[in-house]
Amino acid sequence: EAAKRRYPAQAIVDLAALRDNMRHLVDVVGGAHSGTAVMGVVKADAYGHGLLPAALAALAGGATWLGTAQAHEALTLRKLGIGPDRCRMLTWMYNGAQVPFDELIANDIDVSVGSLAGLDRLSCAARQVGKPARVHVKVDSGFGRNGFTEENFDEALARLALLAREGALDIVGQWSHLAVADAPDVPEFVESTDRQIERFNDFTRRMEAAGLAPRIRHLANTAATLSRPEIHFELVRPGIGLYGYEPDPAMGTPAKYALRPAMSLQAQLGTVKDVAAGHGISYGRTYLTDGRTSTAIVPLGYADGIHRSASGFDMAGAKHMDKPGGPVRVMTTDGPRLFRVSGRVCMDQFILDLRGSAAELGVHEGDTVELFGPGRGEAFAEPTADDWARAADTISYEIFTCLRSRIPRLYL
Ligand code: PLP
Repeated sequence: EAAKRRYPAQAIVDLAALRDNMRHLVDVVGGAHSGTAVMGVVKADAYGHGLLPAALAALAGGATWLGTAQAHEALTLRKLGIGPDRCRMLTWMYNGAQVPFDELIANDIDVSVGSLAGLDRLSCAARQVGKPARVHVKVDSGFGRNGFTEENFDEALARLALLAREGALDIVGQWSHLAVADAPDVPEFVESTDRQIERFNDFTRRMEAAGLAPRIRHLANTAATLSRPEIHFELVRPGIGLYGYEPDPAMGTPAKYALRPAMSLQAQLGTVKDVAAGHGISYGRTYLTDGRTSTAIVPLGYADGIHRSASGFDMAGAKHMDKPGGPVRVMTTDGPRLFRVSGRVCMDQFILDLRGSAAELGVHEGDTVELFGPGRGEAFAEPTADDWARAADTISYEIFTCLRSRIPRLYL
């Protein structure tokens, strides 16, 4: 309640949902003793859910690894008390001399290497620290981002073998990332994933032949964890599934995979007022009221991370101009109803056309409205982050990760 008075909006994170989603993902790979471990991917402030709470919830749900993109994210978790006895960690971003390989090695954080330059830097750091770096060899199986390629893998293997013999490196694993695993129903994407898997296995054989057999292979993100059991290998790396969403809403419903969206975004209404027909709403007058109506202000805008592309256009009659805005659930005296962003999203607020009288609808300033939440079960359930993603022409990942720190995260 105090947070509601101090801040006009809140992102409420259900930690039990995070934990249960992880439990489900552990079940999907065959349970805790299946030989496949699960890494909770908690990069980017745990997809906007809060790094430490989400990491702890993932561990409570049975994750035995945590994964981050940036080094400081993993170091922060270690500094906050998640020690090597509690879980293993892998961090994978490479940005040249800036990567604090020495600190990562000293803190028992596994690192990725996917370039010859990175290998040089990493082995220097390991020698300095006097402790072998635990390395996951990244191969580019077709994503085209990081990783050794067919072109430089022989040289990489030769150097890896030397450094392993010297004791600078402990070659723990081999890994790669999939480009289109989130479309299990599209034949050409399935084929492209098949090709990535073949290349990945090829790289494994080359490592084995060089006497560097990887102990831990990992390739699967959420999509592949849910739909490709043959590539669970020794470790899977789900991110979005932990937060209760599927990578692509077309994959099926969250219910199908028993995942529960963990975050709800709520706000308390500002001014509610009556306006005449033909009234322009927000910048650019891209929305005109088509009759006498009431409007209500939602105190969230693009400075909070609400996408301006989720604006709603309706030029009262010029239907070719219509574009639905992001949805908001409002409790009226007749029960919950969905309204859409009317006109442009501003920096700090947006406007809803209630398409009727607020007094008759029973909508008042200070009422709590929901932008998104679990969105399941009842009719007129609140929207989900996927609904916002559709309105903003993006993906749920971007909806969460864009939410700024101006919106407090409250934990249930
Ligand atoms: N592995 C890597 C290397 C990633 O970059 C990501 C996220 O983008 C993941 C795993 C998790 O992917 P997802 O959130 O689709 O499960």
